[in-house]
Amino acid sequence: MKWLFRYGCSEELFLKRFEEEGKIMNAESFEIKACPEMWKDLGMDVERFDKMRLMLGEIYRKTYLTQKNRPVKMAYFDDMVAEIHGGRIKEILAAKAEGHPVIGTFCVYIPEEVVLAAGGVCVGLCGGSQGSIPDAEKILPRNICPMVKSAFGFKAGRICPYFQAVDFVYGETTCDAKKKTWEILDTMVPTYVMEIPQMKKQSDRDMWLSEVKEFKAKVEEVAGKEVTVEELKKAVKVMNGKRRALQRLNTLRHTKPTPISGKDVLLVEQIAFYDEPVRFASQVNELCDDLEQRIAAGEAVPGKDAVRIMVAGVPMALPNWKLHHLVEGAGAVIVNEESCIGTRYYKDLMAEDAQDMETILTDLTKRYMNIDCSCFTPNDERIDQVLKEYRESQADGIIHYSLQFCHTYNVEEIRIREACAREGIPYMFIESDYSPEDVGQIQTRVEAFLEQIRG
Ligand code: SF4
Ligand code: SF4
Repeated sequence: MKWLFRYGCSEELFLKRFEEEGKIMNAESFEIKACPEMWKDLGMDVERFDKMRLMLGEIYRKTYLTQKNRPVKMAYFDDMVAEIHGGRIKEILAAKAEGHPVIGTFCVYIPEEVVLAAGGVCVGLCGGSQGSIPDAEKILPRNICPMVKSAFGFKAGRICPYFQAVDFVYGETTCDAKKKTWEILDTMVPTYVMEIPQMKKQSDRDMWLSEVKEFKAKVEEVAGKEVTVEELKKAVKVMNGKRRALQRLNTLRHTKPTPISGKDVLLVEQIAFYDEPVRFASQVNELCDDLEQRIAAGEAVPGKDAVRIMVAGVPMALPNWKLHHLVEGAGAVIVNEESCIGTRYYKDLMAEDAQDMETILTDLTKRYMNIDCSCFTPNDERIDQVLKEYRESQADGIIHYSLQFCHTYNVEEIRIREACAREGIPYMFIESDYSPEDVGQIQTRVEAFLEQIRG
């Protein structure tokens, strides 16, 4: 509970969670908490945001709380959703008031270890909702990726408390839509952009190391302190602990039959981007203990013979649960996400034995250069990784998921499709956005794909 005091968080906010631990929330008692006074202080459009809160609560009830036989330890993650606009923001603001930098992120390339070492807080900003897209389309072109529009719209419409709370936003140059949007976003909130190499030659690695060093200097400037070797070593351990917990969860869900739904694991992977990392890792490990007991007792979700699907492709930012809901609603179960909100975030750890700043930063650079985002060319590692995860997850088929107008993932899909054809893996490609308009069409295609697998 040390974190409660470190972040100046009151008992009222979080002790309830621990009292209720062990009791899974039911649909009737669930609500996303409102904090209108705090939202007003953050300069938000309170009336509109409150309507979005109610809508999100309703979607969550229907998508998550109607699932049968959920692991008991999902109670913590339900509560993190209930506190998404209240308790967690209060914690972040308390940290900020104590002088800790708060940095909003959109991409797994942010060197989180550096932020943690400076005492800072990283928060993944929302970019998975249709609700903010009209705000973005008043300014940005319509024919760009919905993730970029959704995220930008949250700031333009003043309808995200995280966006309002950050000291600065971390942007990167992984795609054209993002890198040009940062220039506009910077007029609304300070936006620091890191150049991400698009190849993995030695010169690219050198460039990335110098970018990491510049980012460290920026974080130190905002924190008003220099990061020490000891602080960075500690942060590496914290991040490794968090990533190990997620790896453990992913390995357990690969069991046949799986003890947890894909929707629940996706939720945990999404919460990884806004929860406090030590607490989060400990709760994921408790969930894993729960899953081990379920596996020993032969408890499966949803049924022992459900078709097992692996999803590969673009990240599903909160609250994008559309594909998982459709696939699992059709009686299948998702057993892996090869995605940045998924394995790409946690498959690689950092060495923990380095003793000086230069070596730690070089190790950090190496770890982040293993991320096989489609922005890289060539990107053979990703094709191999998809096949590896397919085998490890004991899946029966792969759905490649891309967002509209995401050129790199949409083109790279061709190579994934060819690899699946070579290996005889049942495969389907879905390109979508956040609107409900294509739900019927996707549902029909998913059902046909599952029938094809069932033979
Ligand atoms: S898909 Fe690429 S750009 Fe998007 S979050 Fe992952 S690494 Fe970043
Ligand atoms: S999904 Fe593709 S287009 Fe959208 S932000 Fe990520 S890399 Fe850019």
